[in-house]
Amino acid sequence: MPSKSVEELYKNCTNLDEFYSCITVLHEKVNQAMHKMNQIEPPTSMEESKELLMWIYKTEDLVSEITELHSFVLFLSRQNTEDDTKRPLLADCIKLKNKIPALLSMLDQLFLGMSESMLKEFLLSKEMRERSLFYQERLLKTSSKQVNSELQNTLRKHMNEDSRSWFDVRQKLVNRISFKLDNTKDETMTGQEALHIMYTSHPVRSVRKKIKKLFKENVNNDKVLFATVLNQITANTENMNQAFYKEETLNMSLFQNRLTKRTLNSMTSTIDKNLARLIPYYERKAKLLGVETLDEDDLLAPVYSDQPQFTYEEAKELILQAFSNYSPKLASFVRNAMEEKWIDSENRSNKSFIEFCTFLPVSKQSRINIIYKGTLRCMSTLAHELGHAYHYDKLSSKSTFVQHMPLSIAEFSSTFTDFIFLNEMMKQNNTPEIQGLLIEEKLKAITLYILRPYTQFLFQMKLFQARTQGPLSVSQLDDLIVECQRFVYQDSLGEYNSEQWISHNLFYIPDKIFYNYQYMFGYLLSAGIHALTTNQDFSFNQFANLLEESGSLPVEDLILKHVGQDIREDEFWQIAIDYLFQDIDRYLKLTDRQ
Ligand SMILES: [Zn+2]
Repeated sequence: MPSKSVEELYKNCTNLDEFYSCITVLHEKVNQAMHKMNQIEPPTSMEESKELLMWIYKTEDLVSEITELHSFVLFLSRQNTEDDTKRPLLADCIKLKNKIPALLSMLDQLFLGMSESMLKEFLLSKEMRERSLFYQERLLKTSSKQVNSELQNTLRKHMNEDSRSWFDVRQKLVNRISFKLDNTKDETMTGQEALHIMYTSHPVRSVRKKIKKLFKENVNNDKVLFATVLNQITANTENMNQAFYKEETLNMSLFQNRLTKRTLNSMTSTIDKNLARLIPYYERKAKLLGVETLDEDDLLAPVYSDQPQFTYEEAKELILQAFSNYSPKLASFVRNAMEEKWIDSENRSNKSFIEFCTFLPVSKQSRINIIYKGTLRCMSTLAHELGHAYHYDKLSSKSTFVQHMPLSIAEFSSTFTDFIFLNEMMKQNNTPEIQGLLIEEKLKAITLYILRPYTQFLFQMKLFQARTQGPLSVSQLDDLIVECQRFVYQDSLGEYNSEQWISHNLFYIPDKIFYNYQYMFGYLLSAGIHALTTNQDFSFNQFANLLEESGSLPVEDLILKHVGQDIREDEFWQIAIDYLFQDIDRYLKLTDRQ
């Protein structure tokens, strides 16, 4: 039975008709707006631009309303995956959300129709200045290398539909996977469950090995099909970027993330130089687990079997305590989020295991979904998701288009608050057991935010290169992913994961291609800022100001302005890595006699 707090959270959401009528009203509003915008001419003077400005404001309001409705329904639908009534509602919300690009492109056409001098004057006006970056980027994407726009839109639509169909094929292949973990019981494990456990690691080694083995056996016959899908999605993405923007996919991704290649290269080459420093950690962890060498699937496994348990009430108190020691402002925001019941933390069997935070731009609130099971890891996840909520809160005073932050910065706020929580817990708890657990959590985060995403990044880089020569075979894909893992883990693991190109969801989502280096970026940025600032007040204000402007500046300028660091250079990344890797020495010392 859902607890009282969850019931309260959804008490106003029983009437689905209300949602459907909201969708109908919004569809109507979008259609009317598009019809009217179609009739106006691009402005030729600042006086004439007032009408365009009004349509910008109206479009922003519509985008916010659609986003709010979609986010909230998405949140509801994840609460009970067995409840079929929310699925058509979510599908309708997605249809509505898909109208946003068409709405924005109507504005683009009015911008493109302006003379160069008029456009410049308009973008520099008081009302437009903070939205300037958003529009400059849209114009760069739509104008410079454009072919016939109607033809382009039709082609884009077909190619997007094509990629989505390939993604659906992959989902169907995953849904076909099912096996019994224990032959004496009726219970079967689904493909999605297996993927989730393989990603997060089962605490019992024999169980995780068994799941990996059964997954491998189960997908074996379909590997050729998975390879076909992956090859096709990769080719589609590259063809689209080449056809529409005359750019490689990685360059397009960097453009969308407001980063330059130089920054990415500085970050990755600094990581490369430091990878070998992790080897003593792998060796020690293997010893503590009682095995000869660590396998890829052992990386996130717990070393300590006796995990202390914390009730949800205790967890909230500990997080609030840690945050208020760091910054009363952060603590007061979080206290409000807890009191206002933005968080569904309950561990229910029918709930989606995707943990996330979603923003409601009209109410200026967030909603968080986590599955709280009483471990330190769960507390750290809550501290992470609250960081996302804080970021949204900082952006909520900005206009809609300026709330749009690049993914590169999206994992910054969350990892920053997670660091605050773990560091404060370290200060408060001196027992070797808790210290060991906390350091282990921090080291696991290195795997989650740096090592795994880096493997995925290298794999995609090589895949895009190799794909130009034609589709890759199953064995080539197996070899490629293992080659990337061998490099990242410096050849020091026992077993690698050759099925990772199948199990990693993001490789198959067309608009999430190259969604990996952003995790490394956000996490290292957090670490770097924590390393550089010993004065907490200063550090917190920097953090909050940076978040507030994260939608309106290119990322390199943002960091230079608020942190005073040039992230195009290696130095910053080395400082960040040194800060993180201190924990390796601490871990080695602490576990020396165990
Ligand atoms: Zn996150």
